[in-house]
Amino acid sequence: MATASADIKAAIAKYEAVIGLEVHVQLLTATKAFCGCSTKFGAPPNTNVCPTCLGLPGALPVLNEKAVEFAVLASSALNCRVNETSIFARKNYFYPDLPKGYQISQYDKPLAEHGYIEIKLNHEAKRIGITRLHMEEDAGKSLHDGFPDSAERTYIDLNRSGVPLIEIVSEPDMRSPEEAFEYLTRLKEIILYTGVSDCNMEEGSLRCDANISVRPHGAEKFGTKAEVKNVNSFRFIKAALEHEIERQVLLLESGGSVAQETRLYNANEGKTYSMRSKEQAHDYRYFPEPDLLPLVVSAAWQAKIRESLPELPEARRARLVREYGITEQDAGVLTLTRSLADQFEEAAKHAKNPKRVANLVQGEILGRLKAKGLEIEQSPISMKGVAASADLVESGAISGKMLKDLYDLCFERGKDFPAVYAEEGSPRQSTDTSALEKIIDEVIAANPKQLEQYRAGKKTVIAFFVGQVMKASKGQANPQVVNELLAKKLEG
Ligand code: ADP
Ligand code: ZN
Ligand code: MG
Repeated sequence: MATASADIKAAIAKYEAVIGLEVHVQLLTATKAFCGCSTKFGAPPNTNVCPTCLGLPGALPVLNEKAVEFAVLASSALNCRVNETSIFARKNYFYPDLPKGYQISQYDKPLAEHGYIEIKLNHEAKRIGITRLHMEEDAGKSLHDGFPDSAERTYIDLNRSGVPLIEIVSEPDMRSPEEAFEYLTRLKEIILYTGVSDCNMEEGSLRCDANISVRPHGAEKFGTKAEVKNVNSFRFIKAALEHEIERQVLLLESGGSVAQETRLYNANEGKTYSMRSKEQAHDYRYFPEPDLLPLVVSAAWQAKIRESLPELPEARRARLVREYGITEQDAGVLTLTRSLADQFEEAAKHAKNPKRVANLVQGEILGRLKAKGLEIEQSPISMKGVAASADLVESGAISGKMLKDLYDLCFERGKDFPAVYAEEGSPRQSTDTSALEKIIDEVIAANPKQLEQYRAGKKTVIAFFVGQVMKASKGQANPQVVNELLAKKLEG
């Protein structure tokens, strides 16, 4: 098997992947795109419906202004040019969860075009083009399981029918599953910062279809693409793309050809399966929606909407590095969400040393969160708590070891740092020099070889002694004081 997989690797190395992504994002409006029904997720089936979103004859759509504002805001955040006039169109197809028999979408005149997202991999920046961003409405949901008679019946829930979406179509600019993963991560982050969607993949508010083809390195022409649909996590999309590359390369290498088709990913098997071929592809018979006027977003309205655009993640990362002197890696973690970045800045403003706050998040908080399977927003220790503890270390009141122990208690008790610190009686590290000096004398006496090295000029050995003294004091000693005392004693 080893040779077989080496052969596959060698075959794959001859090819380059070409990937373009189509992402649907649900907008966080209170009501649907063309009627006043609530968009709330999780309501009892078919309770958030009216003649318009049920597709009853004679009901007329009225465009939700907030949905337009959100779509324009997202367009701006993604560097798109917004068309002053865009046109709604009917996309016709038959499916039980689409009661009208067509979906209102935009076709040849979308809301926005010519955008891009900047991604960074191995410190190299690359722009991924965004072909278009258009508005459309969601369909209902088919419920295939969970009912006593699910073996014979499928139920339809039309609560989602008519919920506003934006579809973001990328150029075929990505060249690896890693780039696709990075693009999706940045896209989600930007959308979250704008606040126009919660991008919750489990609830379906962010969905991605991945188009992928392969071509021999150096070839100019794209290969035939397959479209992988309905993959419900970024990790699975990456895995599905990896599988597709291998499948397509092996097909081509064995003299076959890639069929233009839509495929489904089975996460359990890690494989994709053909769903429908090009011959079976829908002809959507698009035509302009006669019940809606062209959508006009004047330059003045666009400008007004742009005023509410927040500082976006990339810009914020750069500013945090500049203003607080933290590393890019720290800034990356601290800007994962807008609220986290807000909290950090609020805490850093009051902290003695913002860098230490950033270091503690990266070095002490993330690992503990990971061990508990928590997201950073769920940390028991708030940014204010981190800042308070950082100040205590900064002033020498507590040692690094004490901080770690206190953090452990915070995670055990699910409480913030100031509360736990008070519960523990506001402990302070010992700076009692007489007790310390005794420990230091003992440590020096026990390590004559290292003492000799030190006196022979190898000054770095002091770190060894500091470590030994800290250990002997069970982490209670103040490292700075230990350092000073040790230096004196070692010089003799
Ligand atoms: P279709 O006509 O099948 O809808 P489009 O040209 O509209 O195809 O592109 C849909 C998506 O597929 C876009 O994200 C685009 O970047 C991507 N795409 C187009 N051609 C290729 C290709 N040869 N390989 C990979 N992705 C592609
Ligand atoms: Zn409705
Ligand atoms: Mg297309």
